[in-house]
Amino acid sequence: MSHVLAAVAWPYANGPRHIGHVSGFGVPSDVFSRFMRMSGHDVLMVSGTDEHGTPIQVQADADGVTPRQLADRYNRVIVEDLHGLGLSYDLFTRTTTRNHYGIVQELFEGLHRNGYIVARTTLGAISPSTGRTLPDRYIEGTCPICGYDGARGDQCDNCGNQLDPEQLVNPRSRINGETPKFVETEHFFLDLPAFAEAIGGWLDRRENWRPNVLKFSRNLLDDLQPRAITRDLEWGVPIPLDGWRDRGDKRIYVWFDAVIGYLSASVEWARRTGDPDAWRKWWSADAQGKDALGYYFMGKDNIVFHSVIWPALLLGYSGEGDKGGEAGQFGKLNLPTEVVSSEYLTMEGKKFSSSRRVVIYVRDFLERYDADALRYFIAAAGPESNDTDFTWAEFVRRNNDELVAGWGNLVNRSVSMAAKNFGVIPEPGPLTSEDEAVLAVAKAGFATVGELIGKHRQKAAIGEAMRVVAEANKYLSEQAPWKLKSEEDKPRQGTILHVALQVISDANTLLTPFLPHSAQKVFELLGGEGVHAPMPRIEEVEDLDGGPAYPVLTGDYKAGARWESVPVVAGTPLAAPKPVFRKLDPSVVDEELARLGGEES
Ligand SMILES: [Zn+2]
Repeated sequence: MSHVLAAVAWPYANGPRHIGHVSGFGVPSDVFSRFMRMSGHDVLMVSGTDEHGTPIQVQADADGVTPRQLADRYNRVIVEDLHGLGLSYDLFTRTTTRNHYGIVQELFEGLHRNGYIVARTTLGAISPSTGRTLPDRYIEGTCPICGYDGARGDQCDNCGNQLDPEQLVNPRSRINGETPKFVETEHFFLDLPAFAEAIGGWLDRRENWRPNVLKFSRNLLDDLQPRAITRDLEWGVPIPLDGWRDRGDKRIYVWFDAVIGYLSASVEWARRTGDPDAWRKWWSADAQGKDALGYYFMGKDNIVFHSVIWPALLLGYSGEGDKGGEAGQFGKLNLPTEVVSSEYLTMEGKKFSSSRRVVIYVRDFLERYDADALRYFIAAAGPESNDTDFTWAEFVRRNNDELVAGWGNLVNRSVSMAAKNFGVIPEPGPLTSEDEAVLAVAKAGFATVGELIGKHRQKAAIGEAMRVVAEANKYLSEQAPWKLKSEEDKPRQGTILHVALQVISDANTLLTPFLPHSAQKVFELLGGEGVHAPMPRIEEVEDLDGGPAYPVLTGDYKAGARWESVPVVAGTPLAAPKPVFRKLDPSVVDEELARLGGEES
C-alpha cells in the first residue's frame, strides 16, 4: 500500500469549463484515483480553481465586477460541474484562500533565501490609462519581419517568428486599442538554469512516462532561461519581502502561485481533517513520506509547469539546486513520480472556441445526458495519447451500441430473467467447461484492467473490461437459458443465470472507476446494499484563516467496492430491473449540430 497523490490540473476560473477540459485532466484522474483506492492505496486527490492573473482582471473589468466576484461566480460553477461528473476529489478548493496565500509566500521566501529568486530590471509594456501591465499576448501590431498586421506580442502567426512586444510596428492593446507604453520595471525571476542539472538527473530516473512527455521535458532543459515570477498587477498574491509586501502594484505571477496549489490544497485538506501534519505522508522526502507516489494530470499545454517548473520550485525550496541551501519549514519535498499529460480533444473537427460557439459546456451536457455516457466516451475514445475528435454521431453510436446494447442489455436481460424465474440469485449446479471459461475471463480482468489503469492506458483498460462484457453476452447467447423452460431444465437455467450474474458483478467492478454512477445502480440491481462507488459532495466551508467562505468538493471514499471478485450469494432477492443506461434517439445528432456555430460544411 502506498500513499498516492493525484494532483489534478487547476481549471482557470474565467468561465465555465467545456468537455475538452474535463477530458484532459478531470475524468482520467478520477478513473485512476478510484482504481487506486479500490486497490487499497491511500489516495489524496486535490485541485481547485486557478483564480489570479491578468485574464481574470481583464474580464472582471469588462463585466463591471471585481476579480474576486468573477472568481466566486466561476469557482461555484466549476465545483458544481465537477460534482456532476462524479469526480472524487478529496479536496477541490481555490487559490484565493488565505491558506494558499501563506503557502505560496512560504515557498517564495524559501526559494529567495536559498538564492534561487533574483531581482532584475526589465522593459515592460503598460497600459497608459490603467497603469497595468499588458502581457505579451494582449499586445498586437505589425510584424517587423513579414509585415503581417495581426502579429501578437509573443509571436507572429503569419510567419511563425517569436517576437518581443517592443519589436512590433504600431503596437496596440487588444483590450482597448491604446498604444502601450514601454517602461523599466523591477521584477523577480526564478533562476531556472540553476536547476537544469538536478532536473536532468531526475528525468533520467523516470520510468513509464509517456515517451512524448519525457522527450518534450528533456528538450526544455536545453534552453532554460530565468523566468519572471512577478507582474505589475493588483490581483494576486503579494510578494512576501520587505519593501514589496505592501506594494499594491506588484503581485506574484499566476503560474507560480497556481502550481503551488497542489501543496497548499494538500495542507488545507489535512487541516480540515483535524490532523494538520497528515499531508506529509504524500509530500515529505523523509521517512514520513517514504511510500509516497505523486501523479500529475493535465493537458499537454501544461507539461512545462509540471515537468520543469514545479520540480524546480520543489528542488529550490528543498535546497537542492546548483546553489544548495536549506529546506524551509515544510522540509524537503517530493518531486512528481509521473507527469501524465493528455492530448487535445477537438469538436466536430474544430478547435473548441467559446466565441465561435464550437463548444459544449459540462453543465449543458449534463442537463441533457448522463455523466457516465460522457465518462465512457472520454475513456474509450478520448485524447489519451493522440488528438481526438468528439463528434455527436460517434457519441450517440458509442452510447447506443456499446453502453446500452452491450453492457446495459447484458445486465437487464440477465437480472430480469433471474428475477422472473427465481425471484433471487439462483443456486448454481455443477459447472460446465463453458461456465468455468467465462468465469475465468471475468476474474482475469482484474489483473489486466488494473495493470493498464496503473500505467495510464485507460483506453485499453476499458476495452478489456468491455471484452469481458462481450464474452458474457456471447456466453448467454450460446447457452440460451430462455429456452430451458421445462421443470427438469430449471436447475441448468439457474446455473447459467448464476454464472451470468457473477460475471456481471465482476464486470461491474472492473467498470466502476470509469462508470461510478451506473456501477452503483448495477450493484443495487444485484441485491447489493450500501455504497459501491462513493460520490463527492459539495460542502460550504469557512476559510480556515478568516477569509470569506466558499464551496469545496470533498467526500468520504473509504467505503465502496474493492478491486476483487466478490462471489454473488445465491438466495439474494432480485427485483425486475430498471434500465441502467438511456438509449439516445439519433435525432439528437442534428439537434446538437444545430446548436453549434460556425460555417456549414
Ligand atoms: Zn510575421
